Amino acid sequence: MEQKLFVYNSLTRNKEEFKPLNPGHVGMYVCGPTVYSDVHLGNCRTFIAFDLIYRYLLHLGYKVRYVRNITDAGHLESDGDVGEDKVSKKAKIEQLEPMEIVQRYTIDFHKVMDIFNALPPSIEPTATGHIIEQIELVKSILAAGYAYEVDGSVYFDVEKYSQNNDYGALNGRKLEDMLNNTRTLGGQDEKRGKLDFALWIKAKPEHLMQWPSPWGMGFPGWHLECSAMSNKYLGHQFDIHGGGMDLMPTHHTNEIAQNIACCGKTPANYWIHTNMLTTNGQKMSKSLGNSFLPHELFTGEHALLKKGYSPMVIRFFFLQASYRSTVDFSNDAIDAAEIFYKKLSETARKLASLQQNALTAVDEETDKGINTFCDDCYYSMNDNFNSPKTLEALNNLSKWINSYAASIRNSGEITAQTFERMKKTYTDFFFDVLGLKVEDSDSGDTDELMQLIIKLRNEAKAGKDYATSDKIREGLKSIGFQLNDNKQGTTDWVRV
Ligand SMILES: [Zn+2]
Repeated sequence: MEQKLFVYNSLTRNKEEFKPLNPGHVGMYVCGPTVYSDVHLGNCRTFIAFDLIYRYLLHLGYKVRYVRNITDAGHLESDGDVGEDKVSKKAKIEQLEPMEIVQRYTIDFHKVMDIFNALPPSIEPTATGHIIEQIELVKSILAAGYAYEVDGSVYFDVEKYSQNNDYGALNGRKLEDMLNNTRTLGGQDEKRGKLDFALWIKAKPEHLMQWPSPWGMGFPGWHLECSAMSNKYLGHQFDIHGGGMDLMPTHHTNEIAQNIACCGKTPANYWIHTNMLTTNGQKMSKSLGNSFLPHELFTGEHALLKKGYSPMVIRFFFLQASYRSTVDFSNDAIDAAEIFYKKLSETARKLASLQQNALTAVDEETDKGINTFCDDCYYSMNDNFNSPKTLEALNNLSKWINSYAASIRNSGEITAQTFERMKKTYTDFFFDVLGLKVEDSDSGDTDELMQLIIKLRNEAKAGKDYATSDKIREGLKSIGFQLNDNKQGTTDWVRV
């Protein structure tokens, strides 16, 4: 099955065939979190989406170097180079060292990623660990004539850059429009142009995190770290650069400008951006009180939640939408995801011990159908990592597997080769590509309990106590469990 992977590229606004720079290898850079508070759900969604992309590329056999940074300095409260450094501000409030804040929230972030079963990146560099590289980058941009120094700060000259380059290439906007829509912000007296941004910022004596530089004591501008670290670990040009959609207009636009100014090349060939979260159709935001922290979702301790959900249910819920679509949180939607997830998860559990029955005759139509569902898993993921479609394909396989396991299938047999392919495809996609797990509560306890109930019911039937046997059957059905009767009696169950 020869298939090509297609990726939506934000830079060209087109779905393009994915062709890595070095065959067999992929370099991917994703903008990581600023570690000054609990990781918010929008970030989790973004990193789960890139985990899916990373996992699929690995599944296809690529050797992937996945770099995701930790921003631990230089990210100011506003993208317009004004306000306090987020980490420093929190350190002052908590009366701690900035690095204590960084340590605490980095550990928390890793824990949350682990709970969501997101694989760690290959390299996780920090901004404070790459001050020298950032200073070198500023020097190169100055030497190339695209930056200027004013009283200990260095700014990028957007107007100069725009003479030969399209500054708005990523966000698709014209320079005049951007100029007209930009308010005058802090540091404006020093900046030559309204769109100029800081590469290096002079630190006031009281600023907690500052380093010596050729321009005096200061700290790097936020956009600089990603250019410096992607250059260092992936080279001047690599394959994929990603992040949340909110990073596109400023952070990524400025990153591209920095890279072109210093090295003459757009750093990545494919730019991938994840969409935002909403709650009951409204933009999710802290100020509206409709945003959730991961632990609030797990415990259900939030005014808008009627119960808690497991991390795999939330991961599954995210995967039900393409990464380019918004995800809307509502109790009903997560409840539906929970039921769907449990169905597929039980199939994954059952599949481990499923053996093929003695083959009587192959039904070609069924055999072809199963192979089509397996192909669909790849077609869907190759279509810009379309996880909702992949879940549909798995659901089709799951239906057949369940009826096969319960020996109630109406359709015919499949070849041993197709049987093995189906098992492998389902397992590969459920566990390795989608990164789902069979959670403890579903791994065996439910089945053990159900086997006990099935035994009691079979005993009731054997004793001709049909009233009890029917009561058990109907009672289970009302809470979503269907018993499967066959010639040997009742031996299996499915969630409906
Ligand atoms: Zn970045």
